[in-house]
Amino acid sequence: MDVVNGGVSFWHAQLGPPPQRSPLDASLSVDVCIVGAGLTGLWTAYYLKKAAPSLSIAVVEQRFAGFGASGRNGGWLSAAVAGSLDRYARRRGVDAARNLQRTMIHAVDEVIRVARDEGIKADIVKGGVLRVARTKPQLHRLHESVVAAERWGDPHSTLSGEATRDRVNVTGALGAVFSENGARLHPAKFVRGLADVVAAAGVAIYEATPVTEIRPHEVVTPRGVVSAQFVVRATEGFTSSFADQDRRWLPMNSSMIITAPLPDAAWDEIGWRACEALGDSAHTFMYAQRTADGRIAIGGRGVPYRYGSRIDRDGETPLVTIAELRQVLTDFFPVLRGVSIDHAWSGVLGVPRDWCATVGLDRATGLAMAGGYVGHGVTATNLAGRTLRDLILGDDTDLTTLPWVNWRTRAWEPEPLRWIGVRALYLAYRAADRAEASGRATTSHIARAADFISGR
Ligand SMILES: Cc1cc2nc3c(=O)[nH]c(=O)nc-3n(C[C@H](O)[C@H](O)[C@H](O)COP(=O)(O)OP(=O)(O)OC[C@H]3O[C@@H](n4cnc5c(N)ncnc54)[C@H](O)[C@@H]3O)c2cc1C
Repeated sequence: MDVVNGGVSFWHAQLGPPPQRSPLDASLSVDVCIVGAGLTGLWTAYYLKKAAPSLSIAVVEQRFAGFGASGRNGGWLSAAVAGSLDRYARRRGVDAARNLQRTMIHAVDEVIRVARDEGIKADIVKGGVLRVARTKPQLHRLHESVVAAERWGDPHSTLSGEATRDRVNVTGALGAVFSENGARLHPAKFVRGLADVVAAAGVAIYEATPVTEIRPHEVVTPRGVVSAQFVVRATEGFTSSFADQDRRWLPMNSSMIITAPLPDAAWDEIGWRACEALGDSAHTFMYAQRTADGRIAIGGRGVPYRYGSRIDRDGETPLVTIAELRQVLTDFFPVLRGVSIDHAWSGVLGVPRDWCATVGLDRATGLAMAGGYVGHGVTATNLAGRTLRDLILGDDTDLTTLPWVNWRTRAWEPEPLRWIGVRALYLAYRAADRAEASGRATTSHIARAADFISGR
């Protein structure tokens, strides 16, 4: 197997080395300092600069723009809310939860609009999101999810097995649900493009500058301290590396593989002409996209969590995970048996204890943050950026009353409980998927128990 393993991601490798921006080499003072040049940090800088061009803004990044999940993800731009709408509604009201869903649907179009207006070419195709079921329990869960989504104002249509296979010829598809509110994009083209736009607007992006401490009005780096009225922590899956944040968001791994460009004959067999973001509804679910150059990129959980919140920084992926993802690919599309896999990589995303994302600002300390998007951040980061803009500028808007604003949840358990818990959870989900695949008619009790215990 001649697979490039790691090296951050295929998406970055395909574009070649990223532009190298200068590191921070002296102390400085700005209005807003943003830590992390992923989509959260860049969107925040983008919208702040648009709204208040005179603000001085510095983004401080340990490696390069898009080094984290923003340059490694599956490229699903979806309207999925990063958290449980039921949970948001219980604490903040049903209308507030509905508003969040409506705003997320709008955010998909907002991202596409900005890309168009700013000339960011990122292979964006709004082909919707198609989630398929290949077992009866999966189908049942999909139908339940459609009823729930309608309740929150997020319409989906259901497809029969035949109609599903007409769109994307997934072997054994029993049915699917489809939402038109979704697009696929090329993550590195998008995040690098956004970084260029932000830099051209006058935001200083300092790369190769690891932040060692964040404190009120100060960001500490090896060669200087940035003083700022507001400091935004936009480090999502890496947040646990800060000593005072080690139990806030669990760094969960997700891994991907990508095929070589497929021959026309394979595409004739597979279909997938509308380039829908494609996923399933297994407990350890997969997500995939058809790329602009005719490949399939497919991802899943792999090794979900490393003891002590260790982060594999350059995306190297265990061989067993690569083999598992290849197996999922060929289960879905048997015509791809023997296909070359060009690249495999992994990244980290942030998971809060209650699986609900948050965005917030503490006016007393000037400390702001956003994250915990549990793998749904490509669209949510845009909403977070606009919300942070309003919070920082002190504007009360429809965005600042959304239920995820200043959402609080408890910390993760200390080790070894955290590692044992997450490992047990994923063993349970894998066992549940196996039971369901071998003919079980209803969702496995193991999975229901795991959902209950994890708070998912
Ligand atoms: C493999 C994978 C697939 C995914 N697929 C999807 C998908 O298809 N759709 C979807 O919606 N979501 C997906 N996600 C999640 C999504 O990519 C993230 O939610 C989103 O990119 C988070 O953006 P962010 O800017 O908050 O964090 P990141 O992109 O991780 O950016 C954080 C930045 O902070 C920097 N940083 C960290 N620590 C420091 C420090 N000490 N000093 C300076 N800088 C620091 C990092 O280098 C990084 O650049 C996926 C994630 C992964 C890993």
